[in-house]
Amino acid sequence: MEGATFDYIVVGAGSAGCVLANRLSASGRDRVLLIEAGGEDRNLWIHVPIGYAKLFTDARHNWLYSSEPEPELGGRSIIQPRGKVMGGSSSINGLLYIRGQAEDFDHWRQLGNAGWSFADVLPYFRRAEDQQRGEDALHGVGGPLAVSDVSEPHPLCEAFIAACEQAGLPRTDDFNGASQEGAGYFQLTTRKGRRWSTARGYLAPARKRHNLAVIGHALTTRILFEGRRAVGVEYLKDGARHVARARGEVILSSGAFNSPQLLQLSGVGPADLLREHGIEVIADHKGVGADLQDHYQARFNYRCSERITINDMMATLRGRVGAGLRYALFRKGFLTVGAGYAGGFFKTDPSLTVPDVQFHFILFSADSVGQKLHPWPGFLASICQLRPESRGTVRIKSADPALPPAIQPRYLSAQLDRDVMVRGMQLLRCVMRQPALARYIVEELMPGPKVTSDADLLAFARQKGTTVFHPTSTCRMGSDVTAVVDERLRLHGFEALRVADASIMPTVVSGNTNAACVMIGEKASDMILQDAKAVPARAA
Ligand SMILES: Cc1cc2nc3c(=O)[nH]c(=O)nc-3n(C[C@H](O)[C@H](O)[C@H](O)COP(=O)(O)OP(=O)(O)OC[C@H]3O[C@@H](n4cnc5c(N)ncnc54)[C@H](O)[C@@H]3O)c2cc1C
Repeated sequence: MEGATFDYIVVGAGSAGCVLANRLSASGRDRVLLIEAGGEDRNLWIHVPIGYAKLFTDARHNWLYSSEPEPELGGRSIIQPRGKVMGGSSSINGLLYIRGQAEDFDHWRQLGNAGWSFADVLPYFRRAEDQQRGEDALHGVGGPLAVSDVSEPHPLCEAFIAACEQAGLPRTDDFNGASQEGAGYFQLTTRKGRRWSTARGYLAPARKRHNLAVIGHALTTRILFEGRRAVGVEYLKDGARHVARARGEVILSSGAFNSPQLLQLSGVGPADLLREHGIEVIADHKGVGADLQDHYQARFNYRCSERITINDMMATLRGRVGAGLRYALFRKGFLTVGAGYAGGFFKTDPSLTVPDVQFHFILFSADSVGQKLHPWPGFLASICQLRPESRGTVRIKSADPALPPAIQPRYLSAQLDRDVMVRGMQLLRCVMRQPALARYIVEELMPGPKVTSDADLLAFARQKGTTVFHPTSTCRMGSDVTAVVDERLRLHGFEALRVADASIMPTVVSGNTNAACVMIGEKASDMILQDAKAVPARAA
């Protein structure tokens, strides 16, 4: 492999990277190299959806990042898990299949990004999808990404959806339908109860191709340039430095934290930051690592009146064995569930045209994300604001590529974010008080009945809130001076270098971000192949 030349080098086998590896190698002609810092996805808990909870703290498959102390959160650092394995974050995520609102993409287009309106991106969502419910104008079948319904209804989820209706909020059976608004069950990226990561859906079938090379446990450390053209990458594997060359393009799909880090390490980023770390400046690009956006959530914990929660299943050997057997025999039950079972998208202000908050309704309870489950019957519901105005940064702390960058989301730094968070918490409480749910609630454990005023609710969100794991926009697409890539995802001012992952989103989508990253991978691969046709044939 040393010094080998490829048509395309894709850095990062995550949600977008696996899509690119598949589509770019599909012709059988172009030689494609996919470089991934993590290893194979052999761990059983990657494939059993509930294993999601075990992967939060698993250093073998997770970068285990943490934010810098957050000024608006009393100096707390917030955990920032990211997948470090084939499939990237799609191998460790909560499996919820949400695209975002049509208006998100129309907004991207209004910002000047031709080709990114909802009408433009819908064909890519459909092409990716293998929808269990079948095909319609908005959904596709036969694509590499399996999308399924939850295996069975659950009485608490039924109660939650009924409580939303009692609170005057509509019911929906499709968050990815014509309108996002409503309460209902989530769909999951699973097939027959197993996780359907992009490693599973896109990479596994493509690996049989002779023209696709995949290198795992390989940390890309630098992009190699000749003038302003990317000509390859340098990577570390087994302690040794290697070089791979690209005669076509280098595509960064390393995610919202690592794509800007890699650009900065390679001399593309804010000049003062690069000089501070002794890195030669190739381009003073202030936008690289700027504009970090993320969804921030407040989680409410409840003690349940009936032993019907995941806490109860996990509390006894009998419960665990029973659940294991149900899963093994019928692919049903709690083991088939990821981050949430039911949820909703709602408006906190009736004058809004589209929802501004998302609820996740989760059938277990714990003090915080990734912590031990409570020993009593419990469940939780969380609220996050969908279109935050707070903006943060990702900046290298060292020229050493093995060290994590400084991640500073600046959660709740915008007034709108604080206001919507408070209104969203009030709306959540209103739902929880409805008769359909009230009969299941012994008490609200967190924040608890004493926390009622706007100021106290906000203080609670600051003290206990956390990420929904949706960082984006650190290599933002656009045409303004701080935009990093253009609407064809080419790095401004450079040749043969693109970014295709969550980092290019001009604004975070109104929902969970995996489906949009898959769509970005699909669309990027089409643009790359179209552009290759438009230039004279490359020298063999
Ligand atoms: C815990 C968790 C729960 C989530 N839950 C959901 C959910 O339920 N639904 C949903 O839609 N979204 C969810 N998300 C978000 C979603 O999974 C991500 O937005 C999406 O996977 C990001 O895709 P990406 O292609 O940008 O990056 P990633 O999928 O993170 O891929 C980046 C890849 O690049 C590799 N890499 C990074 N740096 C280097 C380097 N220098 N050299 C080589 N390889 C490198 C990484 O190891 C990784 O494999 C969740 C995320 C997490 C972490």
